[in-house]
Amino acid sequence: MIIRNTIKTWVIDFKKKLCFFLVLTLSFQSAKSQINDAQFAAYNTLIGGITGGIGALINKKKDQKWHKTLLKGFVVGLGGGAIAYSGKKLNALVAQKKELGYCWLSRAVFSAGNSIVENAASNRDFWSRWHYDIGFMRMEVEISGPIAFTPRFMPSAFGGVVFMAVNGEFDGATTLKSGTLTFRADRVNYASNLSASTASNGFLFINTLNKGYKFYDTYAHEMIHAFQFQEFSGINYFFNPLTNKWKEKSPRFKNTSRWFYGDVNFEAMLVNYFIIQKGYDARPRSYCNNFLENEAEFLSVKRGACPAE
Ligand SMILES: [Zn+2]
Repeated sequence: MIIRNTIKTWVIDFKKKLCFFLVLTLSFQSAKSQINDAQFAAYNTLIGGITGGIGALINKKKDQKWHKTLLKGFVVGLGGGAIAYSGKKLNALVAQKKELGYCWLSRAVFSAGNSIVENAASNRDFWSRWHYDIGFMRMEVEISGPIAFTPRFMPSAFGGVVFMAVNGEFDGATTLKSGTLTFRADRVNYASNLSASTASNGFLFINTLNKGYKFYDTYAHEMIHAFQFQEFSGINYFFNPLTNKWKEKSPRFKNTSRWFYGDVNFEAMLVNYFIIQKGYDARPRSYCNNFLENEAEFLSVKRGACPAE
C-alpha cells in the first residue's frame, strides 16, 4: 500500500515536471528561425539546469529544505550543461582539422559536463561520480568513497547498436580513431535520403562517404547527434525513489542493477527528435526545421541544416 501510494505520488509529480520540460523544448522549437550560438548555449545549459533541479528535488533527503535542494541542483546542472555544450562544440575541430581523434577529446569534455548534470539530478556532490561511454558500455568511476570502477551495460543504447549492426557492417578502423562505434553500408536502408545516421551512441555511414571535407563535416555532425542521445541522462535519476525501494525489497535486483544502467535518455532523444521536432522527412521540410539537426550542423560547421534557405 505504501509503495502503491509512493508510485502514485511519484507519477503525478513526474507528469507535472514532464509538462514543464516539454514546454521548454517547444519554446526553443518556435525560435528556430534565428539560428545562433546563444540559442544553442541556452538550450544546453537549461537542459542541465532543469533536469538537475527536478532530479535533486525528487531525490531530496528528508532533512533538506526543498528550495535549497532545487536551487543547488539547478545551479550545478547549469554548470554541467555549459561544460557539456563546450564538449559538443569541440566537434568543430573534427571538421576543421579533418582528424577523427578530436572525437575522443569532445566526448571527454561532454561526458565531464554530463556527469556533473547527473550528479546534480541524483542530489549528490557534483564531483562524486564520472562516466565515459564507449558504445553501449558506460565506464563509471565513483570517487565519493573508495575509488571504484564499474562497467555498466546500457540496454537502450545496445538496442540502437543492434539496429545499426543489422543494417551495416562494423568499421573497426574508424571506430578506433573516433572512439565511437561506426558501421558501414551501401545505403542507409531505413532512410535512403541520408548518407549517415546516428541511431544510438554510434553511426551508420554509407561506403562512399569515407574521405574529404564532406566525410569529416558529416562525422562532426553525427557526433553531436550521439551527444544529443546522452544529454537527457539527468532524467534517469528521476526514477531513483522507485529503484531504491525495489533494491530494498530484492537483494538480487540490487546485485544485478550494479552492472546495468537504465538509459531512459535514449528514449527521451527519440521523443524529442521524432515527436517534438518532427523527424527528418523532406516533406513538410521537417529536417530543415528540426532544432536538433540545426544544432548538429551549426556546432560542427557553422551553418543551418538547410543553408540554401
Ligand atoms: Zn543530422
